Amino acid sequence: MQCIFCHKDSSTSKSVEHIIPESLGNKEHILPKGYVCDACNNYFSVKIEKEMLAQPYFVSMRRRNDIRTKKGNYVAENMLFPGAHKASDTIFDSKENALYIKDNDVVKSIIEGKCCYAIARYIEEPEYPDKIMSRFLAKCAYESFFLMGGEHDYQLWLKERDNKESMFHDFDKLRQFARYGVGEWPYSQRRIYSEGTFFSYKGCEPYEVLHEQKFFFREVEKIDEHKFLAELYFVLVICGIEYVICVTDPDISGYNQWLKDHPNHSPIEDDDEKRLDIGMYDINPFLIKTK
Ligand SMILES: [Zn+2]
Repeated sequence: MQCIFCHKDSSTSKSVEHIIPESLGNKEHILPKGYVCDACNNYFSVKIEKEMLAQPYFVSMRRRNDIRTKKGNYVAENMLFPGAHKASDTIFDSKENALYIKDNDVVKSIIEGKCCYAIARYIEEPEYPDKIMSRFLAKCAYESFFLMGGEHDYQLWLKERDNKESMFHDFDKLRQFARYGVGEWPYSQRRIYSEGTFFSYKGCEPYEVLHEQKFFFREVEKIDEHKFLAELYFVLVICGIEYVICVTDPDISGYNQWLKDHPNHSPIEDDDEKRLDIGMYDINPFLIKTK
């Protein structure tokens, strides 16, 4: 086998590749062993995903939505303890309704009755633009092709990888940007629904969506009845924030134009799915999700 990122032999690689990190709740979108070699897998996990998840927005968002690490642990967050005049790394255990506080002075203040509440930051959106996020999107888009195409496309890629006429050649810039950070790759970011929004689908019980993704064609020019020129975009939504990159070119202007032409819409929307109007945007879900 060969790695889809570095092209080196990956026959002895042991890791499977999670397209979205397990620490964001992904248990479904996984590439088989050998598609991504152990070295590239480790590179993405340390240099891209770990850095992204350490950003204040992701720490805040995971704590308030109860999204745990892949080992099932809660995320530690720096909280302010006004009575103790100090901040401390703190873990909120929503099951036990308990706080685990690292700083001993803060603990002492609480025992002495000087400190009776903690303040956690509520950060609505990630900083924008951010190169780590754009490389993460490039990685997810590139890997998602192989997930969709399965074994057949992987074998085709092995055969046609170096052929400049092949469709795989169009994705090579994306591969290099994801793996080696060559150049810049602008993306679009906006909130399209609030955390805590419920959806219903063909009579199912209402459910929340942690992350969803799709490829989206924007028609640029019609050639004839069955043929049109199109731009290809990858759309990823995590906890209500839509991130979009163009797949074949680092140019987001076509998508920005689509947004102007389709105000208040997102390509991720499914016509069969009805959004229920139970947004909790203004309310801290921290205070609501107690069963
Ligand atoms: Zn590799």
